[in-house]
Amino acid sequence: MSLPAAATMSLAKYLLTPHWRRVRFAAIWAAGGLCAICSSEKNLTVHHRNYDHLFAETPADVTCLCSRCNDGFEEIRLLPEAPARVEQTDKC
Ligand SMILES: [Zn+2]
Repeated sequence: MSLPAAATMSLAKYLLTPHWRRVRFAAIWAAGGLCAICSSEKNLTVHHRNYDHLFAETPADVTCLCSRCNDGFEEIRLLPEAPARVEQTDKC
């Protein structure tokens, strides 16, 4: 897919392209056909972890999730503010 054409395409249309189908298949294949959170094999979808490389995603940009876990991520994304970040320390 050439970038100029992709740059004017809506995300909804992009998700119907052969390019996205290849990205999606590769992500599910890399995950072993399992949701990264709950290991479900059903209703798999590919979640954009970021949109930094939209239309030219790298494996690090997407994650295989089942539709239930993906819906949970989308609900979090819609929160007015991201949850407070927990700082990690060397102590338990
Ligand atoms: Zn899941």
